[in-house]
Amino acid sequence: MPSKILDGKALAKLAEEDIKASVSKLKENGITPTLATILVGVDPASATYVKMKQNACARLGMDSIAVELSKETTTEELLEAIEKLNQDSNVHGILLQHPVPSQINERDCFDAINVEKDVDGVTCIGFGQMTMGEEAFGSCTPAGIMRILEHYKIEISGKNAVVVGRSPILGKPMAMMLLNKNATVTICHSRTTNLQEHIKNADILVGAVGVPRLIQKDWIKNGAVVIDAGYHPAEKCGDIELEDIDSIASAHTPVPGGVGPMTINTLILNTLLAAQKLI
Ligand code: NAP
Repeated sequence: MPSKILDGKALAKLAEEDIKASVSKLKENGITPTLATILVGVDPASATYVKMKQNACARLGMDSIAVELSKETTTEELLEAIEKLNQDSNVHGILLQHPVPSQINERDCFDAINVEKDVDGVTCIGFGQMTMGEEAFGSCTPAGIMRILEHYKIEISGKNAVVVGRSPILGKPMAMMLLNKNATVTICHSRTTNLQEHIKNADILVGAVGVPRLIQKDWIKNGAVVIDAGYHPAEKCGDIELEDIDSIASAHTPVPGGVGPMTINTLILNTLLAAQKLI
């Protein structure tokens, strides 16, 4: 049987209908959900991602405020910009586009975001709350992946989940979200010595490494659910070798059109939820 396509693009489109309706209702109450985006520097990929997020806001009737800072911005200047947005009662969500230029202390700046406005789920406090199963905006890419798994009724409890990558915005929160749904979770990273062996054991495999096609199809267990968070436009692929995946996986996210659209949709959904808390 061919591997089921976990179509993030279609799911995001479907979710947009509900979001649009909820935004209209909020507007009737005098609240327009508003996302502030902060872009530091001129990285073209980051600029494209921010534009896509702003476009999604516009499409759904939400507002966005674009803060664009020069590549020479210091940590102090960025902290000041974040504080202004924290104080602005018209702003419901703050997105600081990752990565920021190397002279900036990104962690300090992420953690300066008021947790109520941390719709991208990047603060340590938000991570801790999510990990403890408390109400929190989870980091958008893993939270989007969880929404895909839920929509397609992928069983998680009791399954072996292997997350390849341990970044603060993706691998680590992904592992915690799967753990909270009772998977047995293995986290692999660049110092993992027997990567293939771990991957062979995965009922649910998440590739979040940032290396084109690092995970080869021969390493994947028959019938595994394969989630590829990577996207490499130049190579037109993700982090997992998805060619011929039909003969191996039971389900998989395509690249593009899998994880990416649900990341943006989750950010927008979280901004709506943050605004809804005001009524
Ligand atoms: P990152 O911060 O560079 O982290 C990469 C992780 O992969 C690190 O934990 C690293 O291990 C691990 N790694 C690197 N090489 C490895 C190897 N050979 N074997 C095993 N592990 C290895 O990247 P990220 O921000 O998490 O992003 C990961 C991927 O997801 C990228 O392709 C990115 O484009 C994609 N992404 C997609 C979205 C979306 O919306 N679709 C959003 C964010 C990211 P160490 O910790 O040991 O260095």
